[in-house]
Amino acid sequence: NRQIRLASRPDGWVSADNFTLTDAPVTEPADGELLVRNLFMSVDPYMRGRMNDTKSYVPPFQIGEVLQAGVVGQVVESRNDSFAKGDFVSGMLGWENYSISDGTGLHQVAEGAVPLSYHLGILGMPGMTAWVGLMKTAAAKPGDTVFVSAASGAVGSIVGQLAKIHGCRVTGCAGSDEKIELCESDFGYDAMFNYKTSDNIAKSIASVCPDGIDVNFENVGGKIFEAALWNMRNFGRIALCGMISNYNDAHQEPGPRGMMLMIARRLTIKGFIVSDDRDACMEYVRKASGWLAEGRLNYRETVAEGIENAPQALLDVLQGKNVGKQIVRLAEP
Ligand code: NDP
Repeated sequence: NRQIRLASRPDGWVSADNFTLTDAPVTEPADGELLVRNLFMSVDPYMRGRMNDTKSYVPPFQIGEVLQAGVVGQVVESRNDSFAKGDFVSGMLGWENYSISDGTGLHQVAEGAVPLSYHLGILGMPGMTAWVGLMKTAAAKPGDTVFVSAASGAVGSIVGQLAKIHGCRVTGCAGSDEKIELCESDFGYDAMFNYKTSDNIAKSIASVCPDGIDVNFENVGGKIFEAALWNMRNFGRIALCGMISNYNDAHQEPGPRGMMLMIARRLTIKGFIVSDDRDACMEYVRKASGWLAEGRLNYRETVAEGIENAPQALLDVLQGKNVGKQIVRLAEP
């Protein structure tokens, strides 16, 4: 059983040296446990935060331990009454080819309607995040102008489409011309710009949102967030989803300038964690399954092959090399 363990904590940018690949025999499940053959593993920005030894909404990874990830796999042996051999399951398991679980947090996923990996993306945590942030936290409504950073990624690619379905005008930024084109052709975006080639991000936002932003879906933080703030309309809402531009900072910088705008324009800012609203997540999965079946949602994945390439896949996400949802294929179903 090949496994990726945390070798050391990064100080600043994460590197391949922070991980180690080990091999061990596959163990037998004890009473109440099941053995899962892992097929697909999710790679997500929050994993970088769990590599630090800091208190957060999820506990840090421990040095020497196998890292955790959202996984889709198949039960190969079960001594747990809730799961049978052959079931496809999804939940938090390890960065490894086989996982032992007592079933906590694991649920069955149907085979056939959509590819199994979709349960890690458009029908999984990133899709739920897009829904909770846009529809619950920011309460987007028809006619709103929405601005999304990291627009082509796992969450952003879905926010664009959900906002479009709900009658919003959708704008955003991403880090390459290829990503911009894809956002406009497949992910519902009306107007986009490449923040890496922009010489003034606030002006670039103004050019795609000439009447200002009603809803900022913030994935990046830093200078992009600051520039969005300057473009908010009166009574605008900011759903603070992530701040990926800061995740590899060794030292925290002072926050965005222009916070006086929060007062002058009567803005609302609200952070959220997707897992806090289980009902909204389930509501999203029902709706998104329908929209997928009707062909109203597009989905894009970037797939790395093999557990040994999982650390590089995380580096790729943090460096913007992924388009859509980054996953790792661990085995063929
Ligand atoms: P993505 O698939 O969007 O991948 C991350 C993307 O961020 C990269 O592709 C890159 O795209 C962009 N990026 C990286 N560094 C920078 C930078 N310095 N400046 C601007 N853009 C950058 O990841 P997810 O969709 O999984 O996550 C998006 C955000 O949502 C993250 O901040 C994540 O932490 C957050 N999140 C929050 C959740 C919650 O419950 N609050 C749940 C899930 C995710 P580009 O080429 O455009 O730069």
